[in-house]
Amino acid sequence: MTAKVLDGRKLAFNVSKDLKKEIAVFKKRGANVPRMVNVMIGDDEGTCSYAKSQKKVARDIGIEYNLKVVSAEINQSEFISLIKEMNADTKVNGILIHKPVPEHIDYAEAASYVSPSKDLEGINPVNIGKMMMGRTPIIPCTPASVMQHLKSTGVDLRGKEVVLIGHSTIVGRPLSMLLLDQLATVTICHIATSQAGKLIDHIRRADVLIVAVGKASLIKGEWIKPGAIVIDVGINRQDNKIVGDVEYESASQKASYITPVPGGVGPVTVVMLMRNALEAYKIQNESIMKAKDQ
Ligand code: NAP
Repeated sequence: MTAKVLDGRKLAFNVSKDLKKEIAVFKKRGANVPRMVNVMIGDDEGTCSYAKSQKKVARDIGIEYNLKVVSAEINQSEFISLIKEMNADTKVNGILIHKPVPEHIDYAEAASYVSPSKDLEGINPVNIGKMMMGRTPIIPCTPASVMQHLKSTGVDLRGKEVVLIGHSTIVGRPLSMLLLDQLATVTICHIATSQAGKLIDHIRRADVLIVAVGKASLIKGEWIKPGAIVIDVGINRQDNKIVGDVEYESASQKASYITPVPGGVGPVTVVMLMRNALEAYKIQNESIMKAKDQ
């Protein structure tokens, strides 16, 4: 069997088209376009290029994207004050804290100060709580990207054995909830699963395997159940190339569908960020829009 490749760039393009249409409707009604701010601490060259690509996608969709670079010397309380200022600024619809942040900044604490209605990553505790109850449109971007890929296969997840490797707060944990919403049977593996020598046993029975670890070639193709869907979230630099956590060539011979790295989960994650920007904007503008319609 040779797997069908889940083309993230094509999927991102299709989702972008829908977002563009929605924004065009708002513009037609005379509203401002959504405006997001990416706050970056220091101006590391590598992460700047990521911001540039976000800006390009935002512009294409019709979202105003502002990069706010602050000094690497900023301390936690100054950073939180800055977030509060942006929360209060009615011209800012969405806030993103650019990662990584310097070691002296507590990212989780800072993120909890981003207003839930401007939280573009869906990681504010209020939004995480609402997501658990299926009550917010603002979903963490990478988990949302994985769910878009799975949806694009047309495979019903109900009752499927989904094995998720990695339990981080930005990927594995929220993703497990979204999978549960589809009534998948979810197994979450982590470092202790590996250390207990049980990782391969779980992988072998997975109808859907999702890997979000950050270790090149951790998962061997021969472990994969024939016909499984394989979603590789990992991004690793190896021999001057970007590779995922799954051995792509051998896994492609066993899987029914597979995401490439690069060009799989990543491009859709950026578009999911823009989707959150639009959702945040809608939450903030709902009453204004209703009034205009009357
Ligand atoms: P993270 O916070 O470092 O989490 C990694 C997870 O993998 C942890 O739960 C860790 O478990 C687990 N783990 C580590 N070694 C393992 C092993 N040998 N066996 C099983 N589990 C193991 O990373 P993250 O932020 O979730 O990101 C994961 C990867 O996805 C990275 O490569 C990152 O660059 C990539 N990523 C991609 C996108 C995208 O859009 N494509 C977005 C976000 C992240 P313990 O905590 O128990 O050690």
